[in-house]
Amino acid sequence: MKALVLQEPGRLEVVRCPDPAPGPGEVLVRVRACAICGSDVHGWRGEGGRRLTPLIMGHEASGEIVTLGPDVAGWKAGDRVTFDSTQYCGKCWQCAHGLHNLCAHRQILGVACREYRREGAMAELVAVQAHTLYRLPDKVSFAQACLTEPFAVGMHAVRLAGELRGKTVAVIGAGTIGLMTLLAAKSQGCGHLLCAAHHADRQALAREAGAEASVEGTPKALADAARACTEGRGADVVLDSVGSQGSLDTALAAVRDGGTVVVIGNSAVHTALPLQDCVVRQIRLQFSYSSEGEYPICLKAIADGKVNLTPFLRAILPLEQGADAFRRLTDREPGLLKVILQP
Ligand SMILES: [Zn+2]
Ligand SMILES: [Zn+2]
Repeated sequence: MKALVLQEPGRLEVVRCPDPAPGPGEVLVRVRACAICGSDVHGWRGEGGRRLTPLIMGHEASGEIVTLGPDVAGWKAGDRVTFDSTQYCGKCWQCAHGLHNLCAHRQILGVACREYRREGAMAELVAVQAHTLYRLPDKVSFAQACLTEPFAVGMHAVRLAGELRGKTVAVIGAGTIGLMTLLAAKSQGCGHLLCAAHHADRQALAREAGAEASVEGTPKALADAARACTEGRGADVVLDSVGSQGSLDTALAAVRDGGTVVVIGNSAVHTALPLQDCVVRQIRLQFSYSSEGEYPICLKAIADGKVNLTPFLRAILPLEQGADAFRRLTDREPGLLKVILQP
């Protein structure tokens, strides 16, 4: 098969590789769309130690089943699918308790680290576990379907925030995860929806995604905007897709007393927390990692036309332009939010 292989940091090449063989419980999928994630761009630069080369990256994908490995039931060749980027065992304590994003034996597609290596989906074919597959509704295109993964990440954070109906919600960051979190909050019927982002082009994308106001990514700007629509209280829920000292400070400034902050991003390894302030204001601080079974609600929302994925569908390119696309993303080309590769 043809695959986009990260040969060494900064060097991606389309090369011929042996076709993957689906093991027991796995299926072989012909990839029709695979989006480039921010984590892939970090990995491309050789950061983080999770893309040890050579490696086929890619974990936001969709396609059609080609063949079934041993012990697979309920699927057939030709089925249109997407799949969880986390390949989980389904048997450990976490998997048995609705925490398969924290599976003791999890492997992320397109990641190679000290503990494991799992080839990803920037290729014509990828092998994935059948229990991580989700069937695509007819109305959902492959390009839309590969965005289910980051949308599910946003939906997971929103779900952990609790009931959002009618509540004032603020999202920090307007990259893919920030915007997906906005879309997820909107789809759950929140009231006022605000966004804080540093760059004007991203603020515009946040408004396009449904934020009623998008402001500069500073504590004062977001706190002022949140207070303006809550009689001075602040946002009921703040979802932080950045995860830096600055974004945490912004979240705590914008949330109301007794409100909830959900942290999804983790750009910083450590941050300082104003503990006393958090305690006396009784802030609920929740962290959110990856997703846990939100794919069906996300696919349904996409099929029903409830979410506007247009901003993510503006750069659909052949696999051969993958190396160039990584360069454009790392150079932060204005307006280039997401690239979807078609093998
Ligand atoms: Zn990702
Ligand atoms: Zn498990």
